[in-house]
Amino acid sequence: MNVLVKGAGVAGLTAAYELACRGAAVTVAEVRPHLGGNASWAAGGMLAPWCERESAEQAVLDLGRGAADWWDAALPGQVSRAGTLVVAPPRDVGELDRFASRTSGHRWLGEEDIAELEPDLAGRFRRGLLFPGEAHLDPRRAMAALHDKLVAMGVDFHFATDGQGLSGFKYEVDCRGIAADDAVLRGVRGEMLILHTPDISLSRPVRLLHPRFPLYIVPRADHHFMAGATMIESQDASPVTVRSMMELAGATCALHPAFGEAAIVEMSAGVRPAFADNLPSVETLGNGVAINGLYRHGFLLAPAMARRAADILFNPDKRVGARA
Ligand SMILES: Cc1cc2nc3c(=O)[nH]c(=O)nc-3n(C[C@H](O)[C@H](O)[C@H](O)COP(=O)(O)OP(=O)(O)OC[C@H]3O[C@@H](n4cnc5c(N)ncnc54)[C@H](O)[C@@H]3O)c2cc1C
Repeated sequence: MNVLVKGAGVAGLTAAYELACRGAAVTVAEVRPHLGGNASWAAGGMLAPWCERESAEQAVLDLGRGAADWWDAALPGQVSRAGTLVVAPPRDVGELDRFASRTSGHRWLGEEDIAELEPDLAGRFRRGLLFPGEAHLDPRRAMAALHDKLVAMGVDFHFATDGQGLSGFKYEVDCRGIAADDAVLRGVRGEMLILHTPDISLSRPVRLLHPRFPLYIVPRADHHFMAGATMIESQDASPVTVRSMMELAGATCALHPAFGEAAIVEMSAGVRPAFADNLPSVETLGNGVAINGLYRHGFLLAPAMARRAADILFNPDKRVGARA
């Protein structure tokens, strides 16, 4: 079975992998000249279905709870399974109760537990929540590794093309993200910073609850940290604004004042593709399927969506439109 996958974001790469693993001959067409520069490249890489359930539907938890295992099996060594720590500044500590009441999969921590888990946060927060079943990865390393693995499996990549000139495929898998203008999508702009400071070490993503400026920090290699992210109803992917940069940077200092001395290595914006209900979709097209609407859960939900897309293509009698 010859399949053309359009788009090399996390949706396209995971779909290509699922299909190639099941024996399809896969070609990936990406309109950009190289990997990255898309929403997936801007992501935090949190695989956090219980934390996300605080504001998302049960389907996000159901579809996302297997994501860490999928990534671990596809890319051994890339997934860190240290859980997620959620804290709140002393005056917003009520936010923790609210957060805890809206989801599950957590246990309460006191000041000493927090210090034990994250010594650099010792003495800063009296209470916190640990979500021990959660995980994270570095999206850029994961995407590059998945690309390399796909090439080694025989998948053909064509960059700087929308795939129009490529022919001979039985099916297409449309993974164009926010560019899929035939879908009823909206964009949710997310801005983030990448910081570097040798003065702080964190072992897991930390979420700082705040009524106006919620923040998460995801640790990366060599004392780099991804700090994110804004949620703005907009398809504008232009550079990070001064306001957003100041809000994000200010929130990092509320987590730990040493972030004030961190170098801002990068500021980027990405546009999350979302449907009205914020749920992902695998929909049947005339000659294939479209995976879209991954919203703020691309790395979390792409494996389940890729499996669903491959199920549909490999079982033609099941080719009905499916929404998560
Ligand atoms: C700041 C930020 C933080 C995030 N953090 C997380 C997180 O921690 N965990 C998580 O799970 N999710 C997170 N997300 C969400 C996640 O990044 C998105 O859900 C996901 O990237 C969407 O993936 P996609 O493949 O659908 O789109 P994209 O990554 O945008 O990929 C679509 C690709 O299609 C290409 N394309 C467009 N048109 C064509 C065409 N005609 N032909 C060929 N190619 C085409 C584009 O160039 C692009 O490369 C975050 C998002 C942002 C912005």
